[in-house]
This record gives sequence, structure tokens and C-alpha cells, in this order.
Amino acid sequence: MSVLSRPEFHDEIKAFEHLERVIWADGPVCPHCGGMDRITKVKANPEKRIRVGLWRCGDCKGQFTVKVGTVFEHARLPLNKALQAVYLMTASKKGISAHQLHRILEVTYKTAWFLAHRIREAMRSGELAPFGEGGGFVEVDETFIGVDRTIKPKGEKKGRGFHHKHKVLALVDRNTGRARAMVVDSLKAADLTPILQANIDYEAFVLTDEAGQYKFLDRSFAGHDFVSHSRGEYGRGEVHTNTIEGYFSIFKRGMRGVYQHCGKKHLHRYVAEFEFRYNNREANGCNDRERSEQALAGIVGKRLTYSSTSRAAA
Ligand SMILES: [Zn+2]
Repeated sequence: MSVLSRPEFHDEIKAFEHLERVIWADGPVCPHCGGMDRITKVKANPEKRIRVGLWRCGDCKGQFTVKVGTVFEHARLPLNKALQAVYLMTASKKGISAHQLHRILEVTYKTAWFLAHRIREAMRSGELAPFGEGGGFVEVDETFIGVDRTIKPKGEKKGRGFHHKHKVLALVDRNTGRARAMVVDSLKAADLTPILQANIDYEAFVLTDEAGQYKFLDRSFAGHDFVSHSRGEYGRGEVHTNTIEGYFSIFKRGMRGVYQHCGKKHLHRYVAEFEFRYNNREANGCNDRERSEQALAGIVGKRLTYSSTSRAAA
């Protein structure tokens, strides 16, 4: 893999310089006091235990690195390996398992596992603007994945149906080519409708399949139409859900192949990971390198502490 020969993947000093370029486009900022004017570099010195990437603020006398206040702050591995992991996770279409990261980066499985979750957190977009603004088409669909162990299977035919599975809802805005996906607890119309109203503009035209929970969406949006898969219908002109089905097919293949055992507490992070790659895909004008830098830009302000992740690790 020639791309992995880039210097920031192999040299920790270069890795810090790379991350500083991405995070501090206007120069270093002191995370303690916000100062920008009297910041000087502290030369690394292993003998005196002075870390790589250290800076000093003349205003508050505080010391810091670019990792402070980011998801990498407490990551216990060299930054160049973390940057390799970001690249691998953002460049592979279906994702990469913690086992693969553990082997490629030569770090423990546990370190790889936590690192992958840190990077997923960086990929989380937090975008709130509604889809379908100005009357565009928005496709909506849901999928079921894994087994939600917090729900007991109903009745005698245990394991059948979807009641006991995780439920993921996704939307695609056809004009922007962007997707938004989320884990939901229920697919009842009364629970779904407020979520859809919060994420889709009232002027939008919503497209779904014939599922009952979508039946009255024309009350909330400018328009709603559906395809009837049970009658063998897959589309009439603009009325189809092919885009969102394509989205879920990548998600499900990735989740099956790479992430076999995923508990409910972590599912939202995997969902964010697939959404990130979809929204920053080639067709949306984003190459592997830009996608990797986009994820790095997202590490700021999303600290993921060891304890909050491990408590949820079970
Ligand atoms: Zn300061």
C-alpha cells in the first residue's frame, strides 16, 4: 500500500505536524487560556522525558499538544499509528475490524478497539440542517440488524421477525446526495414521525415503501408517495427508494463482514461511521486523502474517555 508510506504514518514528529496543519489552520491555540500570540515550540527530548509535539503558552505558562481536547487526548499509542488507522478506516468502503487494525498497526487488540471507537466518534457529524429544504426528494427507510439483547423475543417463534433486532432509520436527500442514519427504539408511527419532522423540511417530498408507519406522512410534509414492494413494484419515475436501499446494502454488508458482534451501546458509532464514509464518498467529490483529513478535523471537541467507553464495552 503505497499511500501508507506517507511520512506522517511512520514518524511521530511528522504526524504531529500533519495534525497541527489540519486542526490549527491559523496557528496553534492554547487550550488552557485561548491564547494564540505567545506560543512557542518545546523541543522534544526523550532523555528529559519531553514529549513530541509539545507547545508552551507565554500567557498562561501552560503546556499542551494538539491532542488536548480531542478524541486522541488519552489514546495510548504513537500518533503516527493513530493517523494510519484514520486513513484505513476512512478509505475502506466497508470499514476495518479492530482485529485487522491490531495486526496492521502492531498494537494490542484492546488498544485497536478503543482507537477505532475514538475514530468513529470523530466521524460523527452532528449536522442538524433538515433534509429536503426547498422541496427536494427525501428517501426514508429502515433496516434491522443484529439482536438487541435488551429486548426479549415475543411469543413462541423466538428469533423470527424483527421485534428483537436493532432498528436503524436512514434518510437520503437526493439533491445533496447526503445520508443521515440513526438507531431508533421503535418503528411505530407515533415514535418515528417526530424524528422525521426534526430531520426533514416540511417542504420536502418524502419517499418510502408501503410500511404502515409511513402511511400518514403527507400530513407532515409537502408530499409523500411510496413504492409497494409486496406488489413487486420498485419505482415509478421519481418515486423509488433505490438510493436508500443502496445505502443500507453497504451498511449491512460491512456490519456482517467486519463487525460481527455489536452491542446496542456501540451501534450508533458504527452507524455514524458508515454515514461519514457515504457523505464523504468519491461521488460527493471527496477522495481518500480528503476523507481522511475530514475525519481528523472531526476529532476536536469530542473527547471519548477510557472509562466512558469501557463501561459500555460489555
Ligand atoms: Zn495559555
